[in-house]
Amino acid sequence: MKIQNPVLGFINGLMVTIRSTLRRPVTAEYPAIEKRLPLSNRYMGFPALTWDYDVEEPYCTGCMVCVRECPTQCMSAQMKDNPQHEKGLSRRRKIIESFEINLGRCILCGICVDVCNFDAIEMSHEYELSKYQRNANRVNLNQLLDMGVVYQNKLQWTPKQPQKNSGIPLPPKQSEDSS
Ligand code: SF4
Ligand code: SF4
Repeated sequence: MKIQNPVLGFINGLMVTIRSTLRRPVTAEYPAIEKRLPLSNRYMGFPALTWDYDVEEPYCTGCMVCVRECPTQCMSAQMKDNPQHEKGLSRRRKIIESFEINLGRCILCGICVDVCNFDAIEMSHEYELSKYQRNANRVNLNQLLDMGVVYQNKLQWTPKQPQKNSGIPLPPKQSEDSS
């Protein structure tokens, strides 16, 4: 068995200590805002609904696909006829009327985002929702849209299928063809 020189062992240990002292910290001091690590763009926080600035309404049509696919059944939604469509101001015939997610039960799996065919929901960067009440994280349509707007502005978000999902009314000919 090789016996290590105690002085060399001491110097090795000292070097490890010095390297660790000078290394940039890989942890952050929570909740100090200025000491937090920046979130990656791909970070998946709680789901939020997106806003279509072209026609000033949500992308969500209330189709309920996400509600049906959510593994924890923490979502509910209701659609209505879109009054903007009746006035010729939007391509969306149906629009979301009410939406609720119990974020206390959300497991941030992202399935709702994957199944939505309307670019209407995204995993936002919101993660700080601790509350003292068990059910205090039920968020409604307006709150989900507010979270979505923050996310959209932060990432300069654009829809994945702009042609298909934009609310801008189609020109009359295309509109007739698609009806
Ligand atoms: S978020 Fe998407 S999948 Fe869910 S109800 Fe709205 S349009 Fe449908
Ligand atoms: S992220 Fe998953 S658990 Fe949360 S609302 Fe979407 S589908 Fe449901």
